[in-house]
Amino acid sequence: MASYSPPVREMQFVLHELLDAGSVFAGLPGFEEASTDVIDAVLEEGGKLCESVVFPTNRNGDTEGCRHENGDVYTPSGFKQAYQALMEGGWLSLGCDPVYGGQGLPHTLNVFFEEMLQSSNMALSLYPGLTRGAYMLMREHAEDALKDTYLSKMVSGEWTGVMCLTEPHCGTDLGLLRTRAEPRDDGSFTVTGTKIFITGGDQDITDNIVHLVLARLPDAPPGVKGISLFLVPKFLPDGDGAPGDRNAVHCASIEKKMGIKGASTCVMNYDGATGWIVGEPHKGLRAMFAMMNHERLMVGQQGLSQAEVAYQSAAAYARERLQGRSLSGAQNPDGPADPIIVHPDVRRMLLTTRALNEGARALLGWTAMQIDVADRHPDASRREEADDYVALLIPVIKAYFTDYGFDACNLCLQVLGGHGYIAEWGMEQLVRDARIAQIYEGANGIHALDLVGRKLPMHDGRLVKRFLKLLDGFVDEHRDDESIAEFVGPLAHSVGLLKQATAWVATEAGRNPDEVGACSYDYLRLMALTSLAWMWALSAKVATQQLEGDNTGYYHNKLLTGRFFMKRVLPQAGSLADTLMAGADSVMAMDAKAF
Ligand SMILES: Cc1cc2nc3c(=O)[nH]c(=O)nc-3n(C[C@H](O)[C@H](O)[C@H](O)COP(=O)(O)OP(=O)(O)OC[C@H]3O[C@@H](n4cnc5c(N)ncnc54)[C@H](O)[C@@H]3O)c2cc1C
Repeated sequence: MASYSPPVREMQFVLHELLDAGSVFAGLPGFEEASTDVIDAVLEEGGKLCESVVFPTNRNGDTEGCRHENGDVYTPSGFKQAYQALMEGGWLSLGCDPVYGGQGLPHTLNVFFEEMLQSSNMALSLYPGLTRGAYMLMREHAEDALKDTYLSKMVSGEWTGVMCLTEPHCGTDLGLLRTRAEPRDDGSFTVTGTKIFITGGDQDITDNIVHLVLARLPDAPPGVKGISLFLVPKFLPDGDGAPGDRNAVHCASIEKKMGIKGASTCVMNYDGATGWIVGEPHKGLRAMFAMMNHERLMVGQQGLSQAEVAYQSAAAYARERLQGRSLSGAQNPDGPADPIIVHPDVRRMLLTTRALNEGARALLGWTAMQIDVADRHPDASRREEADDYVALLIPVIKAYFTDYGFDACNLCLQVLGGHGYIAEWGMEQLVRDARIAQIYEGANGIHALDLVGRKLPMHDGRLVKRFLKLLDGFVDEHRDDESIAEFVGPLAHSVGLLKQATAWVATEAGRNPDEVGACSYDYLRLMALTSLAWMWALSAKVATQQLEGDNTGYYHNKLLTGRFFMKRVLPQAGSLADTLMAGADSVMAMDAKAF
């Protein structure tokens, strides 16, 4: 079985030492209470609950899966109880507004808790994860009457929220969607259509489910400009706000699928269901983005969360498993063989995963903090700047983290050799679970297009210029710092490549639109690696300052991991820059019929 212990020390390093979170929160109105002690209590207590109550449900969730019987959906045994424990402990309302019963803690803190929850059971974490996105959407766009009826129930976790975009003929291209909404005299709407692949569309862990459904009004213009958003509950709330009459919302079937088997993936029929509009007519996609942006970061984090469990499990195995002898002489001369951790190739796999995990956690923490700053900072220019960073990095985190997360789970499975392929070790479940994150919430190629085609030119390039300036600022400030020269030098090189690639895209995109599509994936990866290199240089700075007098070995090992990243991972930046600037010709030359 896979093993997992919440990486609380790593999280403390990022929050306290890298980001100085307590001081940042003290400057954000409403977050003054989020002191270092509060942060530690959340990490430690949240970690304990995830490890002892949620993680034990993960394997069973995979083997048992969800069931669809007589029109109802049942989650695997243990899910309801684990969800209940999360709810009763107040863990589902950490970052929510106290007006609706939330605990009013910073979003950043919730993000760190979510990593532990996702590592413990990715399938289970989707039910509250989607609810939180739905809460954010409704808080921003719903009318007060809807907020009053639904938000406190969603914040407490009594009711879940789900997002309903996909239809059989309409995935990436939402302009094709056909679900209809007809206005009624009382201000509500009749919603009719079929959605597929709806995560948590039906389940047995909560009394009610709030569906946020994209649909077209009768006078809707074609394409994405004619999409509106509707709230469609499974049960219509009665006069007291409790679940009342059943709405015409039914799960027709659930999908059999590769992984996350404890998360129900539903075909949902809306047969003249009652719904209410959220936001303005025909502007539903804009409102839906409030949810999608949250979900994109959450899905990016799923890559990290699965790679963390994979790393911990593989590292434990590699310390114990005896096979072969070290190339440089026996390390375990009294035993029949050395542990496989002595072999450079096994170390390559483990260190690649570890270096990416630690860098990714730092980058995600930094980005989450920008969300809090964008939300709360008293200075409007600082809010705008933070918002720009978030907009730029969302596609990078969604796509790169889920790609590397899947690759890392695969690498860690390899560490176990044949045992990794056998179900009881839990590694193959991690690979299967991690795979979906590259696809849902927008396939990764679409996020690369979003980055290069939309975010780079946005506001005349303001987003990327700001980010490059930030990286340049760090390099300039530390250029002469001998103690971290081995980190700043490679970072500076990578920033140079990113600038070169950005200028190339700006010139070539105007000449041939296919250049954007052909270079976008490699560009996204280059930006991700450069961002991670920045996080590693920052981490190295902190670790170097703490090295003297540290008898735990923590900072020493931090530097060793960072060194591995700089020497053995970051050099990919060079080949990515070469590939993306090779142009679209070799990609587009072949006739479609020849494939
Ligand atoms: C387990 C699971 C859970 C899901 N949960 C939800 C949910 O809760 N709610 C919901 O609404 N949906 C959900 N989805 C749907 C998911 O978001 C879509 O599957 C995903 O967005 C891709 O759409 P598609 O499958 O139709 O692929 P398509 O849109 O057909 O794309 C196929 C391939 O073509 C590429 N492609 C398509 N268009 C372009 C383009 N213009 N340029 C370049 N490449 C392109 C894509 O990148 C992809 O690789 C879920 C799916 C699964 C499998």
